Amino acid sequence: MLIIDCHGHYTTAPDAHQKFRDRQLAHLKNPASPTPTPARISDDEIRETIETNQLKLQRERGADITIFSPRASAMGHHIGGEETSTEWTRACNDLIKRVVDLYPENFVGVCQLPQSPGASVAKSVAELERCVTELGFIGCNLNPDPSGGKWQTLPLTDKYWYPFYEKMAELDVPAMVHVSASCNPNFHATGAHYINADTTAFMQFIEADLFKDFPTLRFIIPHGGGAVPYHWGRYRGLADMLKRPPLREHVMKNVFFDTCVYHQPGIDLLLDVIDIDNILFGSEMVGAVRGIDSETGQYFDDTKRYIDAAKISAEDKQRIFELNVRRVFPRLDRILKARGQ
Ligand SMILES: [Zn+2]
Repeated sequence: MLIIDCHGHYTTAPDAHQKFRDRQLAHLKNPASPTPTPARISDDEIRETIETNQLKLQRERGADITIFSPRASAMGHHIGGEETSTEWTRACNDLIKRVVDLYPENFVGVCQLPQSPGASVAKSVAELERCVTELGFIGCNLNPDPSGGKWQTLPLTDKYWYPFYEKMAELDVPAMVHVSASCNPNFHATGAHYINADTTAFMQFIEADLFKDFPTLRFIIPHGGGAVPYHWGRYRGLADMLKRPPLREHVMKNVFFDTCVYHQPGIDLLLDVIDIDNILFGSEMVGAVRGIDSETGQYFDDTKRYIDAAKISAEDKQRIFELNVRRVFPRLDRILKARGQ
């Protein structure tokens, strides 16, 4: 059995990459200054940041492959305009490609998108195509709120997004619904904005008929599906009140939750409430919560431990760790099969 972590970010990218972003932001304030270009980063700098962090933890915790994307909180879609977002996004995705090329056995790429409040999705369509067809990526992170906590964009089910979904369907890649930083002081980024967005996206899917229009579209709602599993009765009841079909056929053929839930009772609830076929192993390491749980002496985000300890069959564990991930990411399945895995 392979252990595939569907949710990892390059949160430890070399400083030079952030300095490029800093120069980009300075250029926004002073457009007369020269346009910055992405940092030159050596393979050794990348090796240093990966081998002492994500790869080290992958080995220690017993995972085989991480589906790897740029640091989500740094996507910053609300900053600058479309051009700023496009340049930053390309630099972030190109860096992920270099990690994958250095460690092809351990990482596979998922891209950030050059979203921008008020802009069309055309640039996101182009970047998804570039990342999948040229860089070999297998999915994307789609931000339902590029305004960074102000929710100025239309719901994920609006026709605004359809050209992007057409490209996702054509390329047969899923999207993880993933917001970025919050510029609204009411919402702490990882403690409130992330979980709000996960929950919000799910309710949007209930209210509309997106999956009638795109029956093959697949979304991963991270962080265990936000508040959804805990409030499953509420969502089933709302679907009924809103005269929507039962969730199993209306939403759950197309929506999957990861296991980025950082305690055993939360994971047990997720496994109890949600069909095993809708659950993908994920840890979001190195990510939102990096410390050690004083009650267990283990890292909060070492989610493999919770699945290992869960009272489900070995077959169900294999579905979560491997088979469901391969089904939702068919391009990963093809890569693995080509390697005889
Ligand atoms: Zn994440």
